[in-house]
Formats: sequence, structure tokens, C-alpha cells
Amino acid sequence: MNFKKNNKFIILLLILLMLILTSCGVVSNKKTATISRTEFLMDTVMTIRIYHKSDKKILDKAFDRLKEIEAKMSSTIETSEVSNINNNAGIKPVTVSPDTYFVIKEAKRFAELSLGAFDPTIGPLVDLWDIKAGERERDFIPSNREVENMKTLVNYKKLELLDNNQVFLKEKNMKLALGSIVKGYATDEVKKVLSESNANSAIIDLGGNVFAHGVKEDDMPWKIGIQNPFGLPGEYLGVIRVKDKSVVTSGDYERYFFFNGEKYNHIIDPSTGYPVNNEITGVSIITARSIDADALSTTLFVLGLDKGIELINSTDYANAIFITKAKEVYIGKELKDKFDLIKELISFIPKEY
Ligand code: ADP
Ligand code: MG
Repeated sequence: MNFKKNNKFIILLLILLMLILTSCGVVSNKKTATISRTEFLMDTVMTIRIYHKSDKKILDKAFDRLKEIEAKMSSTIETSEVSNINNNAGIKPVTVSPDTYFVIKEAKRFAELSLGAFDPTIGPLVDLWDIKAGERERDFIPSNREVENMKTLVNYKKLELLDNNQVFLKEKNMKLALGSIVKGYATDEVKKVLSESNANSAIIDLGGNVFAHGVKEDDMPWKIGIQNPFGLPGEYLGVIRVKDKSVVTSGDYERYFFFNGEKYNHIIDPSTGYPVNNEITGVSIITARSIDADALSTTLFVLGLDKGIELINSTDYANAIFITKAKEVYIGKELKDKFDLIKELISFIPKEY
């Protein structure tokens, strides 16, 4: 064989090899490509991972939408629409964009549904307690009197939704805080952006506010890990298999501090003014709309096990997994065959409700 012939032979071999690899799916092509991006927004880590797409412009669009929502609905950004409502509390109604109006309307609906266990006017108490991630010990807490004073400002019945996208907080010093619902809304909006770009297989994870969009491949469900509240971050207690569903968890193991040996977490019971302290350590909600899961996870965390089960059973669009401080796991009947407990964690007793 001369050099030229030899060269041709090698090229032929290479082409053959490439054909074999491609047909086995080993060589990545446009169909199997994955793109992902992580950014810190809304005080949390957000990751969007899209399968079977390579156009990074889809990620640009999704993150642009997230930034837009944060700019409108954050209560810590002074120029936001929500800050504008807060600054005009007891003064006058404020016109907001349809986006913001929608989220506030949904928040008020969940406040009514839970008779105030969920309350978007929780702002004054959120500021008073000021509970952030990373803080572990504190040598003071607010006085009873301060708590009582702030509590009088928390009342969703004094949150008025008027015509033409106008919102009014009826008393001075009232304050909206939408931290328990905005990420859910933002998740739904990202899903919309992805669908519009024909990206139909993705994991949207906005700080644990997860949406498993479409299916991964071959119509197989996604496996979403549920954090073990007693383990290290990222250690799962179980895995839930879902298609095109949101999974959102509220727990007392990320944002909390200890004072005099007592744990104080970031979800506040509007009826007491104090951080929630019931039998629940974590509750995960599974729904088709992430805004519902986000609002309901906070709501059920406040309501506790019995009332929480009652509320979730009264809906036909949501399922829940409760984890108690006594290491019991309560799983809705409809989830039973979709949830696998990690076997090593045998101290957990799954209970159906
Ligand atoms: P996270 O967003 O931290 O994962 P949640 O969705 O449960 O958890 O939202 C908690 C946030 O909601 C708190 O940081 C606070 O801003 C706000 N919040 C606290 N208590 C309540 C409540 N009872 N109703 C509505 N929002 C609340
Ligand atoms: Mg929530």
C-alpha cells in the first residue's frame, strides 16, 4: 500500500467509526446536547438545565425574564413595584404591571384559602425577625411587645386589589413580602419561555423551587431528590418520579438560628408573630403550577400536619410529602408508587394519609 492509498483507507475507517458512534449516540449532536446556566438571583442560586438543545439564547431569555420579575417584585429593591406599594401603604393605591398584580392576587387567594396561615402582608414580621441563611446562633430575639406591635400590621384583609391593576395596603407601615410565592411564579414563567423556544425537556431549579419540564427522554419520568432535613445539604431522603410537575419544599433547616437552645426558622406564624414551631421539619408539594406549590409549601408548613393534610385533601391539584421532627414521612396516596425512600434511612416510617 502506498501512502496515498493508506491515507484513503484511514479516512474511510474514520468515517465508518463516526457512523457507528453516532448511531450509538456516543458522539454528541444537537439532539443530545445539554445547556445549563447558574446565577445568583432573588437571594438564591438558580440553575436552568435544558436537554436536547444547544442554543444558549434560550438561557439568555429565561434569565432576562427572571431578572425582570425580581426587579418588579422584590421588597428589598427600592425601585420595585412592590416597594412602591409598600412606600404608599396607608396613602394611596399604586398601579402595577399585570405580572405583579397576578402574583399578589394569587397570594391573597392562598391567604383566604388558609384563613391567614399564609399571609403576603407578613413584611413587618419578616423584617423584625430578619432571619437569613448562614446565621446559626443569636444572643437576642425581639421582645414580646415588638412582636405584638408588628403583628397588628399583618392582615391580608387590608390588602386591596382594585380595578386597573391597582394595589393598596390600607394601613401605614404595612408591608408586602412575596418571598414565599415569587419563585414559584418565576419558575412557571421560565417554563413558558422554554416552551416558546421549543425547549421541552429541562430542569428549572430556582433555589430548590424545582420544575421538571416535560420528560427527560423516552417518555421516562424525572427523578427529583427530596432533601433529608436531618442530613447534609444535598443528601436525599427520597426520590420522587414526576413528569411535567413542580416540586417545592419549605423547611426549617436552611434559614434559621438558635437562641437559648431553641430553633427559630424563617417561616412565621401570622397568628403568633413567632417563627413556626410545630411537628413539621419539611414539607414538599407536587403540582402542575409552581406558584401553587410554592405558596402551598409555606402554607402547610405553618398549618402543621393535621390541618395541612386537611387542606391538601381539599384540593384536586396538589399532593404533599410531610417530614416530621419525629422522623416520620407522610405521603399522599396518589404519590405512593412515585416516591422511593432511600433505604439506608430505615428510621423513617412512611405513613399514608
Ligand atoms: P424559601 O423561599 O426560603 O425556600 P418559602 O417559600 O417557604 O421558603 O418562603 C419563606 C419566605 O416567605 C420567608 O423568608 C418570608 O419572607 C416569607 N414568609 C414567612 N412566613 C410567611 C407566611 N406565614 N406567609 C407568607 N409568607 C411568609
Ligand atoms: Mg413557598
